[in-house]
Amino acid sequence: MLTVSEALALVAQRAHNRPAAEVLLADALGLVLAEDVAADVDSPPHDKSIVDGYAVVASDLAEGDARLTILEEIVAGNVPSRQVTSGTTTRIMTGAPLPGGADAVVMIERSEVFPSPAAPLGEARLQATGLTAGQNILLRGASFRQGEVVLRTGAVLRPIEIGLLCEVGRVAVRAIAKPNVAILATGNELVPHGELPGPGQIRNSNGPMLAAAVRRAGGEPIELGIGRDDRDELRRAIQAGLSADVLVVSGGVSAGVLDLAPEVLAELGVERVFHKVRIKPGKPLWFGVLKTAHAAKLVFGLPGNPVSSFVCFELFVRPAMAALAGRGFAGLTTCQAALTKPFVHRGERPTYHPALLRHTKAGSTVEPIVWRGSADLRGLSAGNSLAHFPAGDRTFTAGEKVEVFVLDL
Ligand code: AMP
Ligand code: MG
Repeated sequence: MLTVSEALALVAQRAHNRPAAEVLLADALGLVLAEDVAADVDSPPHDKSIVDGYAVVASDLAEGDARLTILEEIVAGNVPSRQVTSGTTTRIMTGAPLPGGADAVVMIERSEVFPSPAAPLGEARLQATGLTAGQNILLRGASFRQGEVVLRTGAVLRPIEIGLLCEVGRVAVRAIAKPNVAILATGNELVPHGELPGPGQIRNSNGPMLAAAVRRAGGEPIELGIGRDDRDELRRAIQAGLSADVLVVSGGVSAGVLDLAPEVLAELGVERVFHKVRIKPGKPLWFGVLKTAHAAKLVFGLPGNPVSSFVCFELFVRPAMAALAGRGFAGLTTCQAALTKPFVHRGERPTYHPALLRHTKAGSTVEPIVWRGSADLRGLSAGNSLAHFPAGDRTFTAGEKVEVFVLDL
């Protein structure tokens, strides 16, 4: 049976960037930029004041104190009409263009205004010792110049980058589009979660859970609903799912009599890459590829038990989606944390055990939570991470450091 890292390597080899497309900025959060973006303007577009205050000729304040005639007042959005010369000043608000002749701004907190018969706006007494030219001013083009590349291909578009793209006037950019991930929950026992299960039935929790996981991982889920364990029905549903970049089938990949997914996938031309991985939970994991003229579609068959489904999604599907999205085959963030209590590990499969990771001043700790196995989603919900215990029988002592996979983002 494959190890987790062998299986991950097989997935990584087959997960490639999707093509770039024109995307509206409003839809671009989290995407990877596929062009170099140059500025169409200087930023700032003019020398500007970075405080509310008085624009002055700095040398007027050589004594640390001056009384200057106020010429006019400029707020952001206005342009100055008067040249500041020695003996005069213009009241200026943050962001407003600096008037010609001025080379520094004195903060408004350092001013007092007096009426003056000769000046309708009065005179300002300013106090500023050690004022130098350039103080409280941001020069035109200080952030970037017109024509300068402000973002390069490969940049991940966070809210910061969305703001920066607005600064250079972009309403759309070329970016690698979100991967579409179709989700099919299989099982005769499943009913939609809004219904009351009858005898022998359970609610489909995996479908909506995986759709949410897809969305959180930066993809676009396509929920195909519930497919019964019937060859023809599965064939139709899987066929529909194969139009997406990734198809995730939940259930039907174990060794039961109605675990039909692998056979139906094979019939539809999906080439099996592996089936079964040495991991707990999640051993029955199935992975295959459908090669088409344009792209290779990735197909994951996740075990039906909700915790297995979720863990396999986070460990295998999420990094594949990141690769499709141009972010590289990146898995969950991991860290080392000290166990809060002893943990007995048994078995030949490494275990990803639901756990509570805490960051304290004294360092990170991890508490394995009470967990009743692959069906115990409620147990998983009490945690925020998975503690990794390597294969083999061993008692881990309190304080011992283990690798932890962080789930919450
Ligand atoms: P399977 O992998 O199809 O053998 O299913 C394993 C277990 O997971 C069975 O107990 C199923 O009832 C349960 N299961 C399968 N699919 C789902 C689902 N979509 N939601 C919740 N439980 C499921
Ligand atoms: Mg089943």
